[in-house]
Amino acid sequence: MLSVVAPAYNEREILSTFVEQTVAVLESTGEAWEIVLVDDGSDDGTWDVILTAARADDRVRGVRLSRNFGHQLALTAGMSLARGDGVITMDSDLQHPPEVIPELLAASGGNDVVYAVRSPQDAAGRWKRFSAHVFYALLNRLSSLELPEGAADYRWMSRRVVDVLLEMPERHRFLRGLVRWAGYDQVFVEYHRPVRQVGESKYSLRRMVLFAWDAVVSFSSFPLRLASVIGALVSLLGWLYLIYTLAIRVFSNRVVPGWTSVTAAVLVLGGAQLVFLGILGQYVGRMYDDVKRRPLFLIAEDTSNDASTGFDR
Ligand code: UDP
Ligand code: MG
Repeated sequence: MLSVVAPAYNEREILSTFVEQTVAVLESTGEAWEIVLVDDGSDDGTWDVILTAARADDRVRGVRLSRNFGHQLALTAGMSLARGDGVITMDSDLQHPPEVIPELLAASGGNDVVYAVRSPQDAAGRWKRFSAHVFYALLNRLSSLELPEGAADYRWMSRRVVDVLLEMPERHRFLRGLVRWAGYDQVFVEYHRPVRQVGESKYSLRRMVLFAWDAVVSFSSFPLRLASVIGALVSLLGWLYLIYTLAIRVFSNRVVPGWTSVTAAVLVLGGAQLVFLGILGQYVGRMYDDVKRRPLFLIAEDTSNDASTGFDR
């Protein structure tokens, strides 16, 4: 069986179209399938759309998280419920066109991960394209991941890869990195990504920066090493300056006047130390989050076992 997992956060207007189109494509593949829709704490009536879809077809399952946990955790919740031998994760805003599903399946034979990679020219807008470019270049340099630019969370995964992901307890999840980390046989299929027709992107600039930071910090300890490199550079400069001032004192009758340079050095060093304390704090904070071992998400309702929604499967 094939499972399709799609998280939805305030996607009321587009969700029923998404389900309709996805069901049509899945039916055409001739395989047994299920769709797991995860309502990530929407407040616009998305859950009602999901309930209607689940009533109409019992292969559509809906779960509602107890609040907004974010895209990556909503995907994780959906994957933990998916029962298929293969699982496809995709957005529910039709920016991941369901028509690509047969191509993913066609490429899945003998492989463990098939990524749908959007063709480079259709990243939405110049700014998003530029920021994505910088982000992937940086991440690929800092970590050993080799993530292709344009591979978002639209992919087919085999059961063993899904199980690996579900065994990873970390809270700050950068799923596409974790999937890459898992290895096995991974291939890529290119697709054309349309612009969002309805609703708006839930990834604000702030969320994007936090997401990128999660990615860097989860897969690289370079920010930590940066402290040593900059520390060494600064102390080298300090030594050179010391030699210079001593030389002037010994070989001439001038002295280097002091106050300004001392203050500047103290400020620069103090600032650098605070920045690196902050970076250290980020890693420690993440460890603290993981050490607490709180559940990654809470499910409030599930159409497959919740009597109150009139379902009994
Ligand atoms: N999403 C979610 N929880 C969130 C934010 C987004 O489940 O907190 C879902 C959203 O409904 C969509 C997918 O994640 O199906 C991708 O989000 P979006 O389209 O806003 O991101 P973009 O395509 O702009 O990167
Ligand atoms: Mg989108």
